[in-house]
Amino acid sequence: MANNQSTSAEQKPATIAIVGGGIVGLVFAMAVKRHCGITCEIYEKATKFYDEEDELTEGDWELTSIGIRRWKLQKVLFQAAVGMGIPFHFCKATKDVIIRDDGLIDVLFEDGSQRTTQLLFGCDGAHSKDCEVMAGDATSLEYTGVTCLMGIAENCPVKQKGISFPSSHTSGCHAVYFPTGPNEQCFQVHWPIPVEQANSGNWGNLTDTMSKKECRALAKRLKRDGWHPRFFIEPLNHVTHAVRVGFALMKPSLKKWSYGKNKRVVLVGNAAHPPVPYIGQGAQMGIEDAGTMAWLLKKLCVDSKGNFTLENFGKAVELYEKIRIPRTSHISECSEEMGKMQELRGDVDARDSLEFMIQGEVMMNGALPIMFQGVSHHYQKSVDRELRKFELEEQRNVVSAYMPGVLEPSDGERKRNAKKEEEEMREAFEAMMYGTVAGQ
Ligand SMILES: Cc1cc2nc3c(=O)[nH]c(=O)nc-3n(C[C@H](O)[C@H](O)[C@H](O)COP(=O)(O)OP(=O)(O)OC[C@H]3O[C@@H](n4cnc5c(N)ncnc54)[C@H](O)[C@@H]3O)c2cc1C
Repeated sequence: MANNQSTSAEQKPATIAIVGGGIVGLVFAMAVKRHCGITCEIYEKATKFYDEEDELTEGDWELTSIGIRRWKLQKVLFQAAVGMGIPFHFCKATKDVIIRDDGLIDVLFEDGSQRTTQLLFGCDGAHSKDCEVMAGDATSLEYTGVTCLMGIAENCPVKQKGISFPSSHTSGCHAVYFPTGPNEQCFQVHWPIPVEQANSGNWGNLTDTMSKKECRALAKRLKRDGWHPRFFIEPLNHVTHAVRVGFALMKPSLKKWSYGKNKRVVLVGNAAHPPVPYIGQGAQMGIEDAGTMAWLLKKLCVDSKGNFTLENFGKAVELYEKIRIPRTSHISECSEEMGKMQELRGDVDARDSLEFMIQGEVMMNGALPIMFQGVSHHYQKSVDRELRKFELEEQRNVVSAYMPGVLEPSDGERKRNAKKEEEEMREAFEAMMYGTVAGQ
């Protein structure tokens, strides 16, 4: 691992530089190495990710555990990436990105150093510098008016095995609790806040004293609301560290995720589509982005001898946007829908019928069907499907150029195509309703 390594313009340009070593940047670097044999360089603004002393505990925690702490995932990914020989540079905050006339990209860092690269992938999160520089003021973050206090209750025996979604109609609070270990659980309590406080500057990690104070105050409020003392109040009294966050949407959402000459600056993960609360699939969407892009690079940019070439990079990016923008927009809309439903749980009139519906859905399906849409997608299949369409289109273009009109569909073909379209619409409808698509 290279740490604080100085970079200069005289170095041979990197093939791929990644800005941001979060979950998505790390997954992308490993996927590219595995699929294309290219070693990306990662530049991360943080000085370190976690306490070096803090080791992951191995154990036989049953597989029913459904939660994973994000820093633990990041730590595992970081160790795996370094183990694969991927250079990871800490203390490298991007300040600017300059696209040169020769197509190369200069990445300038806050410490005065810079790195030149052929391709740049911006994986630097919701406040992406790459997005700011490239998309300019075409878009900005707009806060949703929902705040969340989240934390981990440690040394507190877990009383419930699965995920729980309690809510209060008195204070408008609603929450999710899930186990992350035998004596450990994660909670995220949401409640609406006035718009003027929504874009608060003091989001982020709370000091241990503040964490305890805020969680105790929240526990009292929820106790008054009648939340179950052992399931939901006790964990709040076992918190040492909490985080307060606000949620934001990119408004307007980005219509393109690639910028610069030949589209060689590309956004991935939260940088392209910050997650909205509730559905909790931001990392999942970012990981899918990373897998999709890496698989497209393998299919379109690695030649038969295994060499990486940029000839078809533009096509790879075009397909990446074609596949990923509708998918992430759809999940974002689902998340907003889920948010509206959660807010309604605070409404006395709607509450009873809504709770009945939620309990019924969870009993029948194990979760709300809207949540399944995130897990019913196979990124490689979606790429292969688009590539097949692309190849067919290319073939048709060649044939049409030599024999105009020969490929005009016959009446029989037209009927078959109409039937196929109808089936596709039905599948899309089923996917929307139940989260499953035949063949995926
Ligand atoms: C309360 C909460 C609960 C969540 N629950 C879930 C869940 O259950 N499931 C799920 O899938 N997702 C969940 N998410 C979303 C998920 O955490 C994010 O979508 C995911 O972490 C995004 O990964 P990323 O790598 O794109 O961005 P980030 O994790 O934000 O990583 C970006 C990295 O870039 C670095 N960086 C930033 N700026 C610069 C710069 N200028 N130069 C260099 N480096 C820079 C940062 O230090 C960071 O390491 C949750 C999020 C929150 C807030």
